[in-house]
Amino acid sequence: MSMRRGLGGPGGRYLTEEEMANKPKVTKELLVRVFSYLKPYWKQLLLVLAAIAASSVFSLYPSILTGRIIDEGLIGRDLNALIKLIILSLAVTFGANLIGVLESYMNTWIAQHITFDMRNTMFRHLQQMSQRFFTSNNQGDIITRMTSDISGVQMVITNTFTSILSNSITLIIALIAMYRKNWVLATIGIIIVPLFTIPTRSAGKTRWNLTREAQECSDEINGILNETLSVSGQMLVKLFCREEAEYQKYEKANERMIKLNIKESMAGRWFRVVISTFTSIGPMLLYLVGGILMMKYDSNLTVGDITVLVALLGRMYGPVNSLLNIQVEWIRSMALFTRIFEYFDMPVEIKNKENALVPKEAHGNVSFENVCFHYDPEREILKDVSFTLESGHSIAIVGPSGSGKSTMINLIPRLYDVTAGSVKFDGVDVRDLDLVYLRSNIGVVTQDTYLFNGTIRDNLLYAKPDASEEELIEACKKANIHDFITAQPEGYDTIVGNRGLKLSGGEKQRVSIARVLLKDPALLIFDEATASLDSISEAKIQEAIDPLVDSRTSILIAHRLSTILAADEILVVKDGEIVERGRHSDLVQAGGVYTELYETQFAKAAELERQVREEQLAAA
Ligand code: ATP
Repeated sequence: MSMRRGLGGPGGRYLTEEEMANKPKVTKELLVRVFSYLKPYWKQLLLVLAAIAASSVFSLYPSILTGRIIDEGLIGRDLNALIKLIILSLAVTFGANLIGVLESYMNTWIAQHITFDMRNTMFRHLQQMSQRFFTSNNQGDIITRMTSDISGVQMVITNTFTSILSNSITLIIALIAMYRKNWVLATIGIIIVPLFTIPTRSAGKTRWNLTREAQECSDEINGILNETLSVSGQMLVKLFCREEAEYQKYEKANERMIKLNIKESMAGRWFRVVISTFTSIGPMLLYLVGGILMMKYDSNLTVGDITVLVALLGRMYGPVNSLLNIQVEWIRSMALFTRIFEYFDMPVEIKNKENALVPKEAHGNVSFENVCFHYDPEREILKDVSFTLESGHSIAIVGPSGSGKSTMINLIPRLYDVTAGSVKFDGVDVRDLDLVYLRSNIGVVTQDTYLFNGTIRDNLLYAKPDASEEELIEACKKANIHDFITAQPEGYDTIVGNRGLKLSGGEKQRVSIARVLLKDPALLIFDEATASLDSISEAKIQEAIDPLVDSRTSILIAHRLSTILAADEILVVKDGEIVERGRHSDLVQAGGVYTELYETQFAKAAELERQVREEQLAAA
């Protein structure tokens, strides 16, 4: 998808229907903004402009010299002049090429620097975007803007801008030179060139449409490969015995691809034969008319002049063709900039207030005061939630799936901001606190643990880059994962694999607990995984959590009875409201939501826990 949108798309010479429908509005503001990125490099740009002009002139000059080579050297039988002119012609060609090298270097340099600036600005901006942005935007789209859209800008600068300039200059100089030689022949040239370039373009369009179809087919094939040859995909295929069906699907797409490829490479082939024959009519026409003029009317016109005119005519096809494409490239470039600016202009939803507070010490007190929240105005997720957690205490939040538990805790480190009411940290509204201060004092272990591909040590150090070996080991011991790590052949340098896939769910959780402990936050938030782990893993996690709950200010989204029992207070959430609160013994008697949850979830989990403990005791 991304490739087809960028300038580097197949053929890339015609607008797709989608592009036609979404043509950007080119306003003065847009142009000013685009050029503002070029502004810091104006000196280098001037140099490029001069180089383009010089190389265009120099590259045409040998064609003009051909006339003198013929007239003065060959027809005039002057060997001296002939050698001089040949040397001059070679020298000019060499000079034009040298300037061309400088031009490409400067051009690439400017383009790379502009995209460097844009990429950095974009990355910084995206990092400031709120969680809402990342949950509501497709990850592929975000990456496309960062990569191929910005690379597209580079193409615009190195190709589009330079091609407009150099082709226009070449064309103007060729026309001037032709008119200076003979206006009749020059006029014939002007009429001939478009006659042959326009039909070629229409043949090109047919071919390009086929290329697009082939690209779509190739995307489909890639999709099949990605899905079926990935770890989880292969597992699914195997378990459902879908090998043959997947093979058939793959073979069918592959067959379509072959047909398209053959069609594509043959499309317009015959047409091109006709066109190229016709293209040679141009020079012949000039020879004919030039010959008639020379012989019958204009004695000043020489053989050399006619040769120059024919040579210049040949040099015009390329630039005319490119300039006919300019509109397409222009629209595409502007669409590209519009898309990039759209991202730049997205407001930063959650940011530091001016004069944000940075208190000296954090204690971890949290209070929710009449908090309301929605992701989407149509549906209120939290309704008037109030509670207080004092430093040194712990709260367990329980409730049915989807009741809003994770949402509640997301409001504390300001992954989202409340829509009404306030969340306070140590008595100060979180929106008044410095974001870095707030987030450094809160440690969150999420349900879906994220480890990046690296060693266990790298993942742990993410929380505290300067942690000592002793600190690492201490945190891992507390998280009940040290023994597992040291039992690995590589120990702390074991690679965890993509997203930590080489570790089990329980091991990943314990590594992430150790990671948070290393951060040593004033408030610990633990979103217990709902996905059931095996009972031994569960017990190990439990052993890690229980002492933490006792010693730290913590909020736990709990799915296990032992976690709930360890907490000082239980909040029961249903449909975004706190419907019950208190201690286990009181709530279980009340016959409300908690009793129901206890009977359906916790009691079963507690029974499992009891069994595991008994097994462990027996084994000991
Ligand atoms: P679970 O125990 O299954 O994790 P939960 O109680 O933590 O559930 P939340 O994740 O807080 O529930 O979700 C509460 C509601 O908000 C759900 O109905 C969910 O569909 C919705 N929701 C969650 N995240 C978003 C989001 N980013 N955008 C829109 N709606 C969301």
